[in-house]
Amino acid sequence: MIANHPVERADALVVGAGIAGLQAALDLADQGFQVVIVERQPSIGGHMINLSKVFPTLDCASCITTPRMASTAHHPNIQVFTYSEVDSIRPVGDRFQATITRKPRYIDEDKCIGCKRCEEACTLYLPDEYDHSLGAKKAVSIPFTNAIPQYPVLDMDECFLCGGCARACPTDAIDYMQKPETFQLEVGAVILATGYDMTPMDAKSQYGGGKLPNVISPWQAERLLAPHGPYGGVLRPSDGKIPDSIAFVQCAGSRDASLGVPYCSRVCCMYAIKQAMLLSGSLPIADITIYYMDIRAFGKGYEQFYQSAKAMGIEFVKAKVGRIREDEEHNPILRIERQEGDSAPEEVRHDLVILSLGMVPAWIPDRDGIVPLQTGSDRFLLSPKPRISPTLTTLPGVFACGAATGPKDIVDTIVEAGAAAMQAAAHLQRTLAGAAK
Ligand SMILES: Cc1cc2nc3c(=O)[nH]c(=O)nc-3n(C[C@H](O)[C@H](O)[C@H](O)COP(=O)(O)OP(=O)(O)OC[C@H]3O[C@@H](n4cnc5c(N)ncnc54)[C@H](O)[C@@H]3O)c2cc1C
Repeated sequence: MIANHPVERADALVVGAGIAGLQAALDLADQGFQVVIVERQPSIGGHMINLSKVFPTLDCASCITTPRMASTAHHPNIQVFTYSEVDSIRPVGDRFQATITRKPRYIDEDKCIGCKRCEEACTLYLPDEYDHSLGAKKAVSIPFTNAIPQYPVLDMDECFLCGGCARACPTDAIDYMQKPETFQLEVGAVILATGYDMTPMDAKSQYGGGKLPNVISPWQAERLLAPHGPYGGVLRPSDGKIPDSIAFVQCAGSRDASLGVPYCSRVCCMYAIKQAMLLSGSLPIADITIYYMDIRAFGKGYEQFYQSAKAMGIEFVKAKVGRIREDEEHNPILRIERQEGDSAPEEVRHDLVILSLGMVPAWIPDRDGIVPLQTGSDRFLLSPKPRISPTLTTLPGVFACGAATGPKDIVDTIVEAGAAAMQAAAHLQRTLAGAAK
């Protein structure tokens, strides 16, 4: 259930409510354990709820994620804290003491009925993080239509304090004076499901990411392709034109030691192929090109998915992209060096370019504190037994799963979440049996 008030004790704490955290919490709760799940964003769902469709089945991402979000929020053994940060997790004997801070939404959650009248009354528009700044939201708003919980957040840094939302609220739920609230929680096991971020758009400055308006991130591409996307279709950001020619640049943030990301991010080939296929469906006459060095289609059904994309007419060009500039109409111009044949470097013009960025950990113990844990050279959480127990961490009783342990697709994430839940359950049984002796 959605928790509006502190909890003192539970069997397990799950940090992060992406698909990994949701699955791990459900698997533990279904075994009768009391679980607290803490998510720093205003809604549960993680990155998956932001996706358009998922490879390789092209199922609607929201249709798969929303039922799991709802099951978590309504499970009698789960307490969900959103818009909350875990400040520290300290081992105390064979248990853990966690300090959790609930950030102020400036909404009294006991009074809010999710009617959105505050949002309708607000006159201030801000970039919408959910649409990766392609669209706009009100300064007080529920993050997205199927957010859980359906409470708005008031952006106090930008708010004019005009009082319009407070006047419109029928239950007097707006609280401009709300403060952060910190509480202690004692648990027997912890599962870290803190997920991933992407390499910054400007990591490779020669690609113009973050500067050229028609060079966009893969997350922005997901939102353009989503049924309820910011523009109601695929339009390019600079002028709203329907793009006739779209390019993907692979390895734009991975397999590059100079960026500190020497590893392969595993999902970029597949999400680019997926987005290319969806674009081809939305814009049947557009030319779509993927510039790549290698295509890594590693999972079940992924090679067939790649072959289907080729059969649909998506062009795969084995080439290095040296740099991207733009012409006076903001059309990106790529300087490419083909890796097959003897051709000289050339320049190609497209209407829209998507940089296939890499995955990096969202939370790093030695950078962000919280709990003393070791990470690998890639900075993802390290298991002392990566071959046989990938969900162990270097602290007994603390487990990890999903993209927190390395770049991963959704299938592997869900499998690993189940494994982490099983190991946490076994740990809890052992410590309970030890305490009973
Ligand atoms: C553009 C793109 C498209 C993709 N498309 C597909 C696809 O079609 N099919 C597929 O299989 N995979 C796809 N993926 C991969 C997929 O997104 C991941 O496999 C999946 O989201 C990983 O889930 P997760 O729960 O581990 O991490 P996340 O989704 O990152 O969730 C982690 C959660 O933890 C929260 N969190 C982090 N730190 C803290 C903290 N300290 N305290 C509290 N909460 C915290 C975050 O806010 C987040 O909600 C795609 C990836 C990208 C980048």
